[in-house]
Amino acid sequence: MFGTFGTVFAPILVSSMERDRKLPLIPLTFAPRATAALDPDDLFDDPTYSTDGPLSDQWGRRVKSLRISVTDRCNFRCVYCMPEEGLDWLPKDKILSYEELARLTRILVGMGVENVRLTGGEPLVRRDLPVLVRMLSGIPGLRSLSLTTNGYFLKELAGDLAAAGLTRINVSLDTLQRDKFHEITRRDCLERVLEGLAECERYPSLRPIKVNAVAVRGFTEEEIPAFAALARRKPYLVRFIEYMPIDGDAAWTRDRVLTGGEILGEMRKLYPLEAIPVDDPAQTSRDFRFADGAGTVGFINPVSEPFCEACDRIRLTADGQIRTCLFSVTETDVRGPMRAGADDAEVAEVLRRAVWRKELKHHINDPGFVRASRSMSQIGG
Ligand code: SF4
Repeated sequence: MFGTFGTVFAPILVSSMERDRKLPLIPLTFAPRATAALDPDDLFDDPTYSTDGPLSDQWGRRVKSLRISVTDRCNFRCVYCMPEEGLDWLPKDKILSYEELARLTRILVGMGVENVRLTGGEPLVRRDLPVLVRMLSGIPGLRSLSLTTNGYFLKELAGDLAAAGLTRINVSLDTLQRDKFHEITRRDCLERVLEGLAECERYPSLRPIKVNAVAVRGFTEEEIPAFAALARRKPYLVRFIEYMPIDGDAAWTRDRVLTGGEILGEMRKLYPLEAIPVDDPAQTSRDFRFADGAGTVGFINPVSEPFCEACDRIRLTADGQIRTCLFSVTETDVRGPMRAGADDAEVAEVLRRAVWRKELKHHINDPGFVRASRSMSQIGG
């Protein structure tokens, strides 16, 4: 999907698109009443904006995937994600209720969203998460409902989540060594996470089971044989994700990015691998199967091979803000309009206008890159 041509020429292409569009890149802000906040002149200078049809952005990309952060809290303190201490939690009254989350999801599914993933913080620290899963899985038109978790509570909750209608699961796991796990998560519980993963295997409806490892130079290289062995031994799709500048400690530096290409090269020294053709252009992972059929690994390369041109994602933060890019520096408030009594059509229009202004791409590789306005734990992965 992102061959040499796309990698080399996409940045040139997108910057000329950005120049030519001359769209007003001002953030939307809302007064308490959604209807009062929608300026009738806003967007009317753009003849391509439409108030109906499938949810799309100004660049012609359909938005089909929603990531919902159900909490900003986490029981781990991963070094690339959260500061060790000093992060204020969102006040409870600012967090969207399950009813509000279900309502927003239903509205968005009605506009063309097909895939929902629940994230955090750590989503399983929110009380009764299977209740939310059941509410969302019953929404007609929703094709997949997945969860990204650190795995700590899966041992207890995998069965309830599967019964409630969860269809996929992603477990974040950056190392298979106990001491390194402790170092990176600031928690000593690798065994428990592995037991949680094993528990997922008992529920065939929870497929695929994905293991996501953030790859950091100087940390991940020695893990490659163990992760390859895990992918071969277990029914897990093991994926490496390039380290991005969205860490809570702002410790990211470019030289610490261990690229997917480098890891693939190392893995190929161990086992022959065959590329699996990509059938969904919005798929972020480039997957490979071991040539002997023993398992699958994947590479998510947002830094070395950006895939923004096919991005179909938006994010909803736990406190009800729509973020149209992982690296957004502005947000759109939907909690305010909802709590002020906006009806579904009004909420839908707020969402549509936010999505229309979705960022074309991240600027990690451009001079003057500006970090996102929140860290990963507050946005959701
Ligand atoms: S950086 Fe933004 S536009 Fe690019 S893939 Fe991620 S969310 Fe989509």
